[in-house]
Amino acid sequence: MSQSEAFPTERLPRVRLAFLPTPIEALPNLSRHLGGPDIFVKRDDQTGLATGGNKARKLEFLLAEALEMGADCVVTAGSTQSNHARQTAAAARKLGLEPHLVLYGPGGGPPDRVDGNLLIGALLGAPTHWTEEHAPYTGTIKQVEAELKAAGRRPYVVPYGGSNAAGLMGFVEAMREVAGQMAESGPFDVHVFATSSGGTQAGMILGAHLARLPDSARVLGISVDERAGTLGARVANLANDGARLLGLDWRVGDDAAEINDDYLGSGYAVIGELEREAIRLAARLEGLLIDPVYTGRAFGGMIDLIRRGELRRGERVLFWHTGGTAALFAFGEELVTAD
Ligand SMILES: *Cc1c(COP(=O)(O)O)cnc(C)c1O
Repeated sequence: MSQSEAFPTERLPRVRLAFLPTPIEALPNLSRHLGGPDIFVKRDDQTGLATGGNKARKLEFLLAEALEMGADCVVTAGSTQSNHARQTAAAARKLGLEPHLVLYGPGGGPPDRVDGNLLIGALLGAPTHWTEEHAPYTGTIKQVEAELKAAGRRPYVVPYGGSNAAGLMGFVEAMREVAGQMAESGPFDVHVFATSSGGTQAGMILGAHLARLPDSARVLGISVDERAGTLGARVANLANDGARLLGLDWRVGDDAAEINDDYLGSGYAVIGELEREAIRLAARLEGLLIDPVYTGRAFGGMIDLIRRGELRRGERVLFWHTGGTAALFAFGEELVTAD
């Protein structure tokens, strides 16, 4: 692609919501402490929308569709402490749309304490529909959508995690962004990040292709809640959906996504010593806050891969900080032990 040629995402509707480009920061103290590769962090926790995170990039494309369709409200879903739901609610409010949140609550009701992302959702005045259904919450989303329509509203549904062809365009763009930043920061051999609903990784894979990153540059997702096989197939499907949306012939097979599922621990949002140590090291060596559910697990995975020599001295690793900081405040007791 020549400089004058338009990047394919430029044909799509997009509304500016995120603070971009996000900075790239070196982590020299952590790199020295581990004695492995040079580690850098891409600060997507600083994208804005009521404390930041990766969903801001997706929402630029998703909510542009909502505006084009003349929607007056938005429905999305997530776990109790969903970063995605919180960012969607903030973006919707900014655009004058009413955010309806479908959230998982044990027993189908709200938890006892309103803190972290839940507190922010309450401040944003997002009507919340509690459910016992598990991700991707399709049944409850459909039900809330139907209720809103019956009341004469025009809802736009953002799928779980914002992961569909439009949403993942945010990360196609992100790879173009990082390719541009490499002129100053130097190239990266490995991109490491937390992967869950798959849109981030799918966008990065398609984006790496379109931004012409070298084939040798790894896009390594650390799974937070699913086995690599299932998630990998979904990521590949999403990447192909994205290519179709852009009218490209490019397709990938089911095994195109590099996913490590060694760090699932005791399950989604269950904090273990891996996450606790990662959060402590990032804070104490670099003054950097990472979250207990996503980035803490991925950062812990990255540290383990370095200690095992699977990520090595001489390599340059870019850790994508995908956000989640607000969730820290909902896990206080589990994080601050007698240390
Ligand atoms: C949603 C989320 C992810 C995962 O992104 P997916 O596109 O769902 O794979 C990672 N980190 C944080 C903090 C998130 O909120």
